[in-house]
Amino acid sequence: MRLSQMLFYTLREDPAEAEIPSHKLLLRAGYIRRIGSGIYAYLPLMWRVLQKVSQIVREEMNATGAQECLLPQLQPADLWRESGRWDTYTQAEGIMFAFTDRQERELGLGPTHEEVITTIAKDTIRSYRQLPVHLYQIQTKFRDEIRPRFGLMRGREFIMKDGYSFHRDVESLKKTYQDMDRAYRNTIRRCGLAFQAVQADSGAIGGGVSQEFMILADAGEDEVLYTADDKYAANVEKAVSLPPDAKPSPFTTYEKLETPDSETIEKLCKFLKCDPTNVVKNVLYQVVYDNGMTVLVLVNIRGDQDVNEVKLFNELTALAGQYNAKTVLALTVPDAEAQQKWAAKPLPLGYIDPALPDDYISTMKNVAPKFLRLADKTAVELKNFVTGANESGYHVVGANWDEQFDLPPGVADMRTASSGDRAIHDPSQTLQTARGIEAGHIFQLGTKYSQAMNATYTSEQGEELPFYMGCYGVGVSRVAQAAVEQSFDKDGIIWPVAIAPYQAIVCVPNIADPQQLETAEKLYAELNQAGVETLLDDRNERAGVKLKDADLIGIPYRVVTGRSLSQGKVEVVERSTKKSEKIALEQVVSTLKQRIDAALEH
Ligand code: ATP
Ligand code: MG
Repeated sequence: MRLSQMLFYTLREDPAEAEIPSHKLLLRAGYIRRIGSGIYAYLPLMWRVLQKVSQIVREEMNATGAQECLLPQLQPADLWRESGRWDTYTQAEGIMFAFTDRQERELGLGPTHEEVITTIAKDTIRSYRQLPVHLYQIQTKFRDEIRPRFGLMRGREFIMKDGYSFHRDVESLKKTYQDMDRAYRNTIRRCGLAFQAVQADSGAIGGGVSQEFMILADAGEDEVLYTADDKYAANVEKAVSLPPDAKPSPFTTYEKLETPDSETIEKLCKFLKCDPTNVVKNVLYQVVYDNGMTVLVLVNIRGDQDVNEVKLFNELTALAGQYNAKTVLALTVPDAEAQQKWAAKPLPLGYIDPALPDDYISTMKNVAPKFLRLADKTAVELKNFVTGANESGYHVVGANWDEQFDLPPGVADMRTASSGDRAIHDPSQTLQTARGIEAGHIFQLGTKYSQAMNATYTSEQGEELPFYMGCYGVGVSRVAQAAVEQSFDKDGIIWPVAIAPYQAIVCVPNIADPQQLETAEKLYAELNQAGVETLLDDRNERAGVKLKDADLIGIPYRVVTGRSLSQGKVEVVERSTKKSEKIALEQVVSTLKQRIDAALEH
């Protein structure tokens, strides 16, 4: 392609809207253009990158035996009601764009496709003999992200590869899950990226086991905790660890003490000369279930620890049945305004005790009359602890479970693991932290969707059984941008060869010089003929501008038909290393071809 004939532009200044390097660079180098919040146009260079990423994904998927298809983006609400996710996706998470058509039918724009695919499997797969089946597609997804940001990293319209597999049993599901683990590792490696596979929370997709593939970069929105021995890595949302040991309590007898102005753990410990590990902190949450029921939740946790709201959310989802509900719509820390709605009297905030009486809750329809009491393991193990006295300005010390306070019936791991904690598999290892960009996520769904949607097959014994399912997603557009986040310098993008929009660019410093132009034209034609995807910068621009632009757009090899032409040579510069060589004209094509082929070898 000739730059003189392309929609080609570069910007000198960093666009104000962009915060992270990859976003700035893609805008500046003319790859993408913002059309609205979280909505981007992929310009021709970007589209080539996206097609390359898609092609790598496709090859790796096909190699596992999965089949490509294309599913509708417009999805009837009824399908989502069947699976029970309509309310979660349109209200709780609010991630699905939903609307009503002219026939008053409710529809959503697909954020993910479990419902559609399960319906297809239900109608088309009859017998165990047809299993396993794995279908995937590469398509635009729509999600009404609350905070779209960082360009393609978190868009409201983005490209995803999503795949869904159907099985007769767990063993078969596990096999495909392992195949996907391998396929995803291959895909990300072939795209030229450094990554870490981590245990993950399954979120609203559901199911049990899941794993994310994190592209390591400082701008990553996720925190990854891992051990140096490579035996443990998890998203902080899911991570478990051994908390630091609690210090011995300085209190041996139970008493109530005046602790003025001690509504935070820090102030309290300073005042009482004790350690945060001596304190049971009682954190109030408010959960709204899908049937409209509000439940007040009191979580006891050791003073130095923080509640992991993802773990709490999962715990509350598991308890939904107790309130005749199915899913959690919202989990919040109730602020003063929220408290006013249900509190019968002002709460002793900062001084709450684990036995906070239920009569703090007004008798109201749709509000559970009792606190749901949950304890984290770290709180349960404490002896002679300090905690609130349920009276502003007072705490109790030397308290014990089963003496002054009943141990809550629900005990679970609800703490946030953090770097420096000891690892569970080997306490001599400590957790380390890194930032990651979630590139892909694979799930063993089990029978969640097939059961809800009554999707069954006939087993060898003639029984009707629900399919076991897995689902697997890669963010194609996110991966493309993450590549830039991992690979750039002060001059611009450095594309890995495998996903660069073009592999080489021939720059003509002076188009008025016929020798330069002719040589460049010839090289351009020969390189393309040899299969090297090549651009020709034949614009009527100064040489400096052309070289700057070539660096900015990040093409792996730059060929310059400059002064060395007099010796029958051209300058070849490798973008990643800036290494420059003079290569004889007749060797340019074979040299580049060889280097590019070497870079593309899987
Ligand atoms: P996140 O936690 O980042 O919101 P998710 O867990 O909702 O992502 P999945 O439902 O697992 O994402 O989707 C599969 C993949 O699609 C993700 O791993 C990610 O690469 C990509 N993806 C998800 N949301 C977006 C988005 N808003 N913009 C771009 N890519 C996305
Ligand atoms: Mg995910």
